[in-house]
Amino acid sequence: CGIVAAVSTHNIVPILVQGLQRLEYRGYDSCGVAVHQASLGGQGGLARTRSTARVSELLTQIQGSGLQGATGIAHTRWATHGAPVVDNAHPHFSFGPGATGDGAGQGAGGRVALVHNGIIENYEALRVQLQARGYRFDSQTDTEVIAHLVDSLYEGDLFTAVRAAVQQLHGAYAIAVVHKDEPHRVVGARAGSPLVLGVGQGEQAGAHFLASDAMALAGVTDQIVYLQEGDLVDLQLGRYWIAGRDGRPLGAAQRPVRTVA
Ligand code: GLU
Repeated sequence: CGIVAAVSTHNIVPILVQGLQRLEYRGYDSCGVAVHQASLGGQGGLARTRSTARVSELLTQIQGSGLQGATGIAHTRWATHGAPVVDNAHPHFSFGPGATGDGAGQGAGGRVALVHNGIIENYEALRVQLQARGYRFDSQTDTEVIAHLVDSLYEGDLFTAVRAAVQQLHGAYAIAVVHKDEPHRVVGARAGSPLVLGVGQGEQAGAHFLASDAMALAGVTDQIVYLQEGDLVDLQLGRYWIAGRDGRPLGAAQRPVRTVA
């Protein structure tokens, strides 16, 4: 339903949560945030907090768990596949073949973290293929296949892995993905669901954001690039990169930065 993501040098959790609150009016049944803890100089990798309550309740949970990071992804879910329970809430993790989460549905240690809006039509076929390669599923969602697919295709470069993964997807998606080995990077893609890029300004100069709606970034940045069907986007500190479905780079003439009101 709603996506917010960021690559920054400051703790990004307040902006992610505030972004989710700005998207609450669309309705949702669960919500969650994942961060890369090392992105803020901390110990550890990917960690998440998820809830079937309101975003305000998620915030209380986050404050209790001390979740912090400068790179992160956040989601409000409107379930299409799988009941509205914590295990089905995004972000979804891939722990790699043969491994699963801690059972509590929260916790740390994933290799890939991913949020998704939309519906993957061929998720059953992909799940069978991934299970045959040893991937274990923690949820009933169509989304989880994308996390494992990215993990299975990862060879050191998240952009390349996401590009290869989306080529296998049929359906509608906007996604934002983080990898444990790349603490200052978020890769996004869209086809059939909206996604915008926000260029950080002021206190967030050098930071980059993704959101399903520019409104989620109100008060953070008004410098917005509207991604088009099939676009892939690579967010890093101080630079971003947009490519078409074929992986060819798209410059500022094709994807201009607009100032939104
Ligand atoms: N199809 C996904 C799910 O059910 C994403 C739903 C959404 O767009 O929120 O988890």
